[in-house]
This record gives sequence, C-alpha cells and structure tokens, in this order.
Amino acid sequence: MSSCIFCAIAAKQVPASIVYEDELCVAFMDIFPMRPAHILVINKRHAQYVHELSATERAHLFEVGHNISQALRASTFQPAAIHFNINDGKAAHQTVPHVHLHILPRYQGDTARFLAGALAKPLLMLKGPLKRELLDQQAQEIRKNLR
Ligand code: AMP
Ligand code: ZN
Repeated sequence: MSSCIFCAIAAKQVPASIVYEDELCVAFMDIFPMRPAHILVINKRHAQYVHELSATERAHLFEVGHNISQALRASTFQPAAIHFNINDGKAAHQTVPHVHLHILPRYQGDTARFLAGALAKPLLMLKGPLKRELLDQQAQEIRKNLR
C-alpha cells in the first residue's frame, strides 16, 4: 500500500467518499471536515507541490474543482460562497504532502462557526473521523448535482 494516504485513496487501497473521478483527478469528502460538505480534489499522480504538477494537471485540478463547486452550489448545502484553498507546503499548514484543493462552503454570518471549526480541528482529529455513512450521503448529494 502507498505510504501517501491520498495516493492510497486514488488507488482505492483505503476507503473514501468519492464525489467524482476521472483519469487525472479524484474528488472526495474530507474525513475531518472543518464544516459540513468539505471536499478535497487531488490529482491521481503524486506531487507534493503545485509547481511539481504538469500544466495539464494544474488546469484539470482547478477545472474539476470548479465543476464540484457548481454541484455544491446546486445541492441542498446551498452555500452563499465557496473557498478554493491550497496549502502549498508545510509552513502553509499542508499536513498531507500530496497537492489537494479544498472546497469549503461558506454562509452569510458564519465567520464564528468557521473559525471555531478551524480551531477545533485538532480536537476533531483526536475524536476520530466523521461517520462514513454521513460522508457517503454528503458525497451522493453533491454527485447528483454534477453536470
Ligand atoms: P491540509 O492541512 O491542507 O494538508 O489538509 C489535509 C486535509 O486532508 C485535512 O483537511 C484532513 O482532514 C484531510 N484528510 C486527512 N486524511 C484524510 C482521509 N483519509 N480522507 C479524507 N480526508 C483526509
Ligand atoms: Zn500521494
């Protein structure tokens, strides 16, 4: 099994709640979500940094992220806005060294909840991942709105 958890997800060696997959990318639910419907998009080929991706891989990562964000907007999660975020290196809080695009829904007036979610993340990780059943339900809701 791959020593990189996201490579292992791409190779189907560990479970993930997959929203979308094609030959270059996979999108799946974050197992320790900062907020409900927190999605990650990765390239299947391992690279830690954005500059290690090919131009095609970089463009495709964002295109898939864009399609996922449109499905998220159309879903029952109905975000008012969306974060597209890449932590590109350890000093930028990259904890999994495989490029990933975070897609995070935001709502009017949710700053306190959002910051609490960020601050509580280490506690959440100690408590354990979100239930697979719930992550699968969220993935299904977003997937059915993909165009
Ligand atoms: P970052 O801090 O930008 O490296 O984000 C890594 C993200 O990966 C975090 O939000 C984690 O909750 C998430 N994560 C870690 N392991 C898994 C996993 N097995 N399945 C889904 N998401 C994961
Ligand atoms: Zn990897």
